[in-house]
Amino acid sequence: MIDAAVVTAASDAVIAIAIAVPVVLVAGGVAIATRRRGRAGQLTGPGTESTGGGTAVAERPAPTAAPGVDRALEPTPPTAIEMTPEPEPEAPSYRGRLGKARGLLSGYIGTVRARGKIDAATWDDLEEALIRADVGVGATDALLGDLRGRVTSGEIGGPDALVDALKSDLVAMLTTEASALSEIGADRPAPEEGQPARTVDVWLFVGVNGVGKTTTLGKVAKRMSRDGTPVILAAGDTFRAAAGEQLSLWAERAGADIVRGAEGGDPSSVVFDAVQRAASKGVVLVLADTAGRLHNKVNLIEELKKIRRVSDRPPGHVTEVLLVLDATTGQNGLAQAKVFLDAVDVSGVVLTKLDGTAKGGIVVAIQRELGLPVKLVGLGEGPEDLIDFDAAAFVDALF
Ligand code: GDP
Repeated sequence: MIDAAVVTAASDAVIAIAIAVPVVLVAGGVAIATRRRGRAGQLTGPGTESTGGGTAVAERPAPTAAPGVDRALEPTPPTAIEMTPEPEPEAPSYRGRLGKARGLLSGYIGTVRARGKIDAATWDDLEEALIRADVGVGATDALLGDLRGRVTSGEIGGPDALVDALKSDLVAMLTTEASALSEIGADRPAPEEGQPARTVDVWLFVGVNGVGKTTTLGKVAKRMSRDGTPVILAAGDTFRAAAGEQLSLWAERAGADIVRGAEGGDPSSVVFDAVQRAASKGVVLVLADTAGRLHNKVNLIEELKKIRRVSDRPPGHVTEVLLVLDATTGQNGLAQAKVFLDAVDVSGVVLTKLDGTAKGGIVVAIQRELGLPVKLVGLGEGPEDLIDFDAAAFVDALF
């Protein structure tokens, strides 16, 4: 499955290059120049430079890199040709992308409503629906136990009220303030233009290979750049050359600078170098990819601990450790997740591939069994297919 993911990514890249080469030959750096102009007006975040997020590499010499770390991208100089910037694509909605999960639940809910009264079959249907949606046995028992009590007391009178009560229980279970991403640089003034940053926030992305770490990191970078916060990417998965290549493509899409290490090199030194470079450029956020080789658990844990320690050395400051989980693996993914909880202090979950599964209920199991908030949700492979988790919108779309 992991190999398949790599092969898919690699063949995607080949197709992308095949399409891109003739365009570049004809138009030179037009596309990049356009993107810079499109973003320039928006760059108002901390550490903003007049040239735009990742484009400063060409204008200013980068600080000396740690051994084994090189600069991966040299931006193409912009041409003088004027082009209208592309309008930003709309973010996907839960409703539009949760078709499979909704398909599963709505069948059961329809039957429950159609029965016209609450009887033993109602409870069987609800139980089966929640278990099949991967809500988990513990959460299903808790939800149905509460509802049974309210039916017995007369508070809930019929099937429609029962479904409404189930929806609001789910929303209540999933609503937590902790699901917001940490604010970047909230506790300190933004660096003056051209001045180094005294503190650089680091967001670490951890998780098993193939869950969508690199893709998610790329999407977050794209979002940050669009919102005017320049970022530097750290290609901390030095064990797979393909991971670095893939992240470079995302860096290019996001117009962000990237620090890569030699294959098999020390991932901590890559993140360290990225933090140094960010500080010297006045960039206040580093997004760091990490390796997820579960077959060597002890090494993985030790390595993650070290990456975290090194990332926290001033000016670096780890403000998010995002555990990326693949929704299609359902409950199995939870068992794997526990390895990462042992290694690093995880601050939240990114749940990917919710667009391709009926197991939408896994969100409930994550919050309940891992005690972690879901912060972001992946709803596809494109750059915009990532949205903040919103309990009410999510539950609404499921039903
Ligand atoms: P990593 O090994 O954890 O870095 O995983 P990758 O980022 O390489 O992703 C593995 C595969 O999952 C790739 O084919 C991605 O395009 C795909 N992927 C990632 N996120 C999503 C998502 O939210 N939805 C879908 N459908 N595919 C995704």
